[in-house]
Amino acid sequence: MKICIYDTHKFEREFFLSCNENFKHEIVFFEARLNTQTVAMAKGADVVCAFVNDKLNEDVLKSLQQSGIRLLALRSAGFNHVDLKAAERLKLPVVRVPEYSPYAVAEHAVALILTLNRKTHKAYNRVREANFNLDGLVGFDLHGKTVGVIGTGKIGSVFARIMHGFGARVLAYDIQPNEQLIAKYNVEYKDLPVIFKNADIISLHVPLTTQTKHMLNASTFEQMKKGVMIINTGRGALIDTHDLIAVLKTGKIGAAGLDVYEEEENIFFRDMSETVLQDDMLARLLTFPNVLITSHQAFLTQEALKNIATTTLQNVTDFEQGKVLKNQVRSN
Ligand code: NAD
Repeated sequence: MKICIYDTHKFEREFFLSCNENFKHEIVFFEARLNTQTVAMAKGADVVCAFVNDKLNEDVLKSLQQSGIRLLALRSAGFNHVDLKAAERLKLPVVRVPEYSPYAVAEHAVALILTLNRKTHKAYNRVREANFNLDGLVGFDLHGKTVGVIGTGKIGSVFARIMHGFGARVLAYDIQPNEQLIAKYNVEYKDLPVIFKNADIISLHVPLTTQTKHMLNASTFEQMKKGVMIINTGRGALIDTHDLIAVLKTGKIGAAGLDVYEEEENIFFRDMSETVLQDDMLARLLTFPNVLITSHQAFLTQEALKNIATTTLQNVTDFEQGKVLKNQVRSN
């Protein structure tokens, strides 16, 4: 099948090309993101493959369907950027990659914690300038600390296990508690207010939905311990960024590690080093010494990229062969 892959980056192309040796689809890579202006580029293809910042609203989906696209293959787990109801009305099936490496994302969350805590980013720069002073680099033992894990699905459960390995007390919140985490890793499921009150570190691993949007906001920050570290590798809008900036200014929040940002869509994955940053909230966040931002790279491991390419191409082959689409996403 002919697949147009939008918003492609150098880091992923080689994985798609080498995996495709087993599938033999016709692949066309576009650097452009999928939107109403670029949708026409897909004319003549069978499948469009989109990433997290492609805009899959009703207009785009309609144009795709009109230009003969028969399948929308997301190369992401998240699908909050797709109007699923519109896709269903248009009879355009949507498939995704539900799991590519929970380890990649969970381990990145740990990287954010360790960097913020032990200040290795500052140490690296200091030592390279022959500054061997240790002032300002004091961290804390993770051992014995209380870590709140919000969302214990595939990623959150790996993260909880790693935190258990560090010797932390792990408190968790999920609408579907994981019994294995309770039995094997001493994870304690608690209501959110209990987690907010007790946690030294809070890490977010729930999907973005109407229920979870801005779940961290002025009122929930207020309930937290002074100096708490917030880690977000979930989705930017789980946190009200405006409120986060306010509590970073007062010192209520000790540190924030953010791999995702509410308004990342037109910023992340791009080299904007030659332009003036227009996003004032992001610019403000970048001024805090205790904030570490990475540009949605938690998934970026060789294993994850290989799994994303393989599952995406397998999804397309399943569709081509009329098989049941096990990775299809539906609106409810
Ligand atoms: P998952 O579906 O396996 O787990 C999500 C968990 O959240 C489930 O256990 C579910 O019960 C729980 N949940 C859902 N709604 C809830 C609510 N309202 N309150 C409490 N719990 C709720 O998903 P996953 O694979 O672990 O991924 C989690 C999220 O991580 C994804 O939705 C995505 O947004 C994000 N993600 C980020 C990256 C990255 O590179 N930064 C990569 C992959 C996924």
